[in-house]
Amino acid sequence: MVFDLHIQRQQWRDHLDSAFSARSQMVPVIKGNGYGLGRDRLAAEASRLGADTIAIGTHTEVADALAHFPGDIQILTPWRPFTPVVDDRRIVHTISRVEDIATLTARQPGARVLIELETSMARHGIDRHELAAAADALTGLKLEGVAIHLPMQGTNLAEARLWAAVVATSRLPTTRLFVSHLSAGELDELRRERPELSIRSRVGTDLWLGDLSAFDVQATVIDTHRVERGETVGYRQVPVPRTGTVVIVSGGTSHGIGLEAPRHAANLKERSKALAKGGLAAAGWSQSPFSINGKQRWFIEPPHMQASMVFLPADCQVPLVGARVRAAVRYTTATFDHIIDED
Ligand SMILES: *Cc1c(COP(=O)(O)O)cnc(C)c1O
Repeated sequence: MVFDLHIQRQQWRDHLDSAFSARSQMVPVIKGNGYGLGRDRLAAEASRLGADTIAIGTHTEVADALAHFPGDIQILTPWRPFTPVVDDRRIVHTISRVEDIATLTARQPGARVLIELETSMARHGIDRHELAAAADALTGLKLEGVAIHLPMQGTNLAEARLWAAVVATSRLPTTRLFVSHLSAGELDELRRERPELSIRSRVGTDLWLGDLSAFDVQATVIDTHRVERGETVGYRQVPVPRTGTVVIVSGGTSHGIGLEAPRHAANLKERSKALAKGGLAAAGWSQSPFSINGKQRWFIEPPHMQASMVFLPADCQVPLVGARVRAAVRYTTATFDHIIDED
């Protein structure tokens, strides 16, 4: 019962090579579930690419990163008094509150840090009016640069320009700026405008998931059952609205398969349209990520822990038990039973 990711390794690596060189001095971001690919695999790829620095999500990922990557490791989640101290010179903490500077200095004198600024994201960061206070407090730590995290919407160049100006004119003893979510072209432009700064891009999604055609997610058919219209099935014993086949495929909530509201039936108007047409959305069904015979199929009920029940209309050819079925997944929430390199 497998739910596997197959990677065309050469194609993926060709993409990584070109994405990595398109933004020179890139800092690959490796966090969470490793964008579905696993953090250790990504750390090995970052080394292969020749990255001197990676950025990880939280201190819980430090041990793995130290074991699998030889260079510097920035921790994106800001340091707090409850963050354990890591005694390794390769670790670079993020400071996002002035008050944490003194606490970290007391715990770990000389620790390497980045100062994060509060951008329009309003997630973490020091307000720019507090930068002078931060600069004064920093004497006992080693400042490696300033970091800004930008939204994913629209163009970020205007905001990045503003922060570049703040850094260039601040009293902070650094000229290094780490940015996110700028295109390669925007990064080049900012670098041209600010030759006095060393600007480096921290990239996750565009690097690791920038060529999804190198990936193929395959679920497996583990059972099929013919059902008549009106027959009740599943945990919820809901009647099926049509005659057809219930297909049980591997892949459930433990693999990150979720239930998303069907777009077609998202609002009342759409829903009544679906009702009028007698579509399966009218029965309250959602589109599943599984494709059988080249078409995305409906969930009969929410995914189970390791399998899902989907519906195949009566006029479709029923797949054999053991047949492979394509699945479209959201990689940042996906967990695969196996990741298989196709050479
Ligand atoms: C996750 C993260 C990134 C990378 O984001 P992607 O969209 O995956 O490129 C960059 N900077 C910070 C602070 C992050 O938390």
